[in-house]
Amino acid sequence: MKSFDVAAVVTGGASGLGEATTRALAAKGAAVTILDLQEERGQALADELGGHTTFVRTDVTDEASVQAAIAEATGKDRPLRIAINCAGIGWAQRTVGRNGEPHDLGAFTRTVMINLVGTFNVLRLAAAAMSTAEPGEDGERGVVVNTASIAAYDGQIGQVAYAASKGGIVGLTLPAARDLSSTGVRVCTIAPGLVDTPLLAGLPEEARTALAEGIPFPKRLGRPSDFAELALAIVEHGYLNGEVIRMDGALRMAPR
Ligand code: NAD
Repeated sequence: MKSFDVAAVVTGGASGLGEATTRALAAKGAAVTILDLQEERGQALADELGGHTTFVRTDVTDEASVQAAIAEATGKDRPLRIAINCAGIGWAQRTVGRNGEPHDLGAFTRTVMINLVGTFNVLRLAAAAMSTAEPGEDGERGVVVNTASIAAYDGQIGQVAYAASKGGIVGLTLPAARDLSSTGVRVCTIAPGLVDTPLLAGLPEEARTALAEGIPFPKRLGRPSDFAELALAIVEHGYLNGEVIRMDGALRMAPR
């Protein structure tokens, strides 16, 4: 069992999957730095968790902003070993091209910038910071866990931008793990199905029930804690590297 007596950064840590992971890491004793645009929620969570948990208002697409947050994390009294990439925007950024209208380039660019470029930006800067610290007994210096989506494999109407951004995260996982292997930093990605977070908040109750019933087993939406447990399991499992793990209740098998 690995020690959680380390520093961690969680992007999107003020809400949903990132919040649940922040809570789970802090409960294990990690010194978490929350990186998010949402100042009020992020600061309130840091205040609630207390201890070594702090919040830095961060835009994951901005190099200087991420560097400042990583500096906060590496300034804590233990090595930075964990980076969880949860910041992202959802499939509401529709780019539908219909009736002769082209898909919307602005929505596409914005989605790819936040979801894919933002993830890569944190991955590269966090991994560089991790690789300067002394390795643990097993030679490991850290682990980066990204968040893709099953839309990377099975995007729906209106999800061109979202699916492309998440497909990019799936695609970079293995080569990034290989690139970073000499530094002792692992890279894995979770591809969730439907998880009950503010991202789904706009859906009417009937739509939520219908979605839950379409999940083969268990017949419920995923919980943020399902994601947090998997993220921590990846952190602990030192032999998992370059892997993309779907967490979707076998939703991909559902008949259409
Ligand atoms: P959420 O909206 O609850 O949380 C996302 C967080 O990211 C927010 O706090 C937001 O402020 C932050 N954020 C957005 N842009 C940012 C930026 N530029 N810099 C810093 N922070 C930024 O959503 P969630 O459901 O927790 O989603 C987390 C991740 O999981 C996203 O990447 C999403 O695409 C992915 N995902 C979610 C689901 C789901 O069903 N909820 C399914 C598959 C994948």
